[in-house]
Amino acid sequence: MDVPVHAVKGIGARAAEQMSLMEIHTVKDLLFYFPFRYEDFSVRRLEEVQHEERVTLQGTVHSYPELRFYGKKKSRLTVRVLVDGFLVQAVFFNQPFLKRQIEVGQNLIFHGKFDRHRLMVNGAIVKTPTSDGSLEPVYPLKGDVKLTSLRKWIAGAFEDYGGEIKELLPASILEKYRLMPRNEACYYLHYPQDMDMFKQAKRRMVYEELLLFQLKMQYFRKRTRESTDGVSKTWNEEQLQNFINELSFSLTNAQHRVLTEILADLYSPYRMNRLLQGDVGSGKTVVAAAALYASVLAGCQGALMVPTEILAEQHTDSLKSLFKDLPVNIGHLSGSSKVKERRETLEKLAAGDIDIIIGTHALIQEGVDFKNLGLVITDEQHRFGVSQRRVLRDKGLKPDVLFMTATPIPRTLAITAFGDMDVSTIDEMPAGRKTIETYWAKPDTLPRVLNFIEKQTKAGHQAYVICPLIEESDKLDVQNAIDLHAHIQEFLPDVKTGLMHGRLPADEKEEIMQQFAENEIQILVSTTVVEVGVNVPNATVMVIYDANRFGLAQLHQLRGRVGRGADQSYCILLADPKSDSGKERMSIMTETNDGFELSQRDLELRGPGDFFGVKQSGLPEMRVADIVEDYRTLEVARQDAAKMIESKAFWNSGVYSALRQALEEEGILNTDKID
Ligand code: ADP
Ligand code: MG
Repeated sequence: MDVPVHAVKGIGARAAEQMSLMEIHTVKDLLFYFPFRYEDFSVRRLEEVQHEERVTLQGTVHSYPELRFYGKKKSRLTVRVLVDGFLVQAVFFNQPFLKRQIEVGQNLIFHGKFDRHRLMVNGAIVKTPTSDGSLEPVYPLKGDVKLTSLRKWIAGAFEDYGGEIKELLPASILEKYRLMPRNEACYYLHYPQDMDMFKQAKRRMVYEELLLFQLKMQYFRKRTRESTDGVSKTWNEEQLQNFINELSFSLTNAQHRVLTEILADLYSPYRMNRLLQGDVGSGKTVVAAAALYASVLAGCQGALMVPTEILAEQHTDSLKSLFKDLPVNIGHLSGSSKVKERRETLEKLAAGDIDIIIGTHALIQEGVDFKNLGLVITDEQHRFGVSQRRVLRDKGLKPDVLFMTATPIPRTLAITAFGDMDVSTIDEMPAGRKTIETYWAKPDTLPRVLNFIEKQTKAGHQAYVICPLIEESDKLDVQNAIDLHAHIQEFLPDVKTGLMHGRLPADEKEEIMQQFAENEIQILVSTTVVEVGVNVPNATVMVIYDANRFGLAQLHQLRGRVGRGADQSYCILLADPKSDSGKERMSIMTETNDGFELSQRDLELRGPGDFFGVKQSGLPEMRVADIVEDYRTLEVARQDAAKMIESKAFWNSGVYSALRQALEEEGILNTDKID
């Protein structure tokens, strides 16, 4: 089976080359190249057929075929056929020769698209019943490989090599879940005799695929946990507790729980590899601060990395104020720092004079040396940090790593994408938060919206107006923000408005944010640079222009900029109700404030590939499984995999040798590289 495809009869060098485009290299690849659908030629009963369905019917020819020619070569042949007591018109295009072949009284099997209202089958073809089942496989094709050839080659591969397909799963599992043997499942996925058989074959292969995938993840997780290259940190518990007690609020139960989980990782000799997820406003920053403080008390440096400079500024400010009475040195490294300033910061870092450094994700990249880096926290990032872990490893650094994300990840995706990580979830909001009221309005209601904003500012509150997003052009976005800002200024001359966009120099951005934070600016007109993390609790209105151009996660993030204080907040989505592109997203936004529910619905709307944005997803490609549809199996496979990896039997017993070998073939068990 592991031989090149041209071992199969009829496959020459050219065909083999074409198939390599489809990632088919060996006979095994060919056997496991599954159809993505089937053509169903089984004869159906008329009453069960839906309108517009492609269907095969059988009946008695009732009238002579009528043939009409039109255009140069086109023809249309109509026959009335008595099917299950109804007269159905079968319409054949461009097959004039049928006139001579079809006779009244004859039994006819024909296939085409059914029109239920007119009792017609359009674009019909005549079928003869096939002996080997009635579902014909249709494969995804590339290059100039033809469907008929591929069908032939796969059939040939089965003839010569089908017997080599070995079972991977232990008998106990097959029995427990009543799964089809592997060779049968593989065969019937190509050639199911009916839909039920197809489902059974698929169920078996889905489980196998997900189990292998989860074994891999669980193995990586175990390896990371057990690689004793982490450092056990110990700190003065009382000092940490004092820090928590001195906060202006008490931690929620959820914050408490996740902090305990994180501290246990810091204390353990293993390296932490943890994801902290919590909806916008759930209070992740203070959890991060407490963890960083524990690390500092243990004599280590900490780094907090964020996606934007604005956020870096803001976190620097909030950490400085959280630690203002404590001997913790906080540093800030930004792309726009002056050369001299930057050099000084770097020197201090290397000397250990800075305890906590804050910067953008580039922080750990170039020439930055630490004296004793113990903890790295990445904020607002759900892009897996695989590359970051690699950078750290390449630098010989082995700190504990915590990823924080406000994009709640549906459980099925979380255990897929982060299967090798530990996950902590803040599933509770600080007390006293009011639900943000969300409205969807037409863009031409802007004047009314501005009047509303004016009222809110008179009551002492502030507002964001997020600008139309235009294609991918930063320049146009900026122009838009400028125009909208001018318009609002003219409309509300007595309200102080500010303008923010990505093209402003860093110090100007910083100043505007500062003014907004201090309520010197009441309305902030901005592009999406304020999307993540920005925290101005006095802001109560978020207006999003052209909201249909944003994805759900982004809208939810933007909405999360308000509702951060005790006052009632509002989110107004301006989107043309006629453009159907955003309809569903707009209504989901008005229906729920819960990030987890929203992300689940987003996932259903878009599918997993799109959820994280294509390439960046880090999601594995699945052959047969669909992690959304098959989430129950995914969960089961995960539990099974975790148990197996932890058991002695998995590593020793012959029962598991085939599974072990499958992992080995993927190069998983013998690699030292864990990113
Ligand atoms: P996010 O999880 O979105 O990063 P933040 O950490 O920015 O949220 O917290 C949002 C706001 O909630 C901040 O103003 C913070 O001070 C406040 N906050 C955090 N934890 C609590 C709490 N337990 N009780 C009250 N307010 C809190
Ligand atoms: Mg945050």
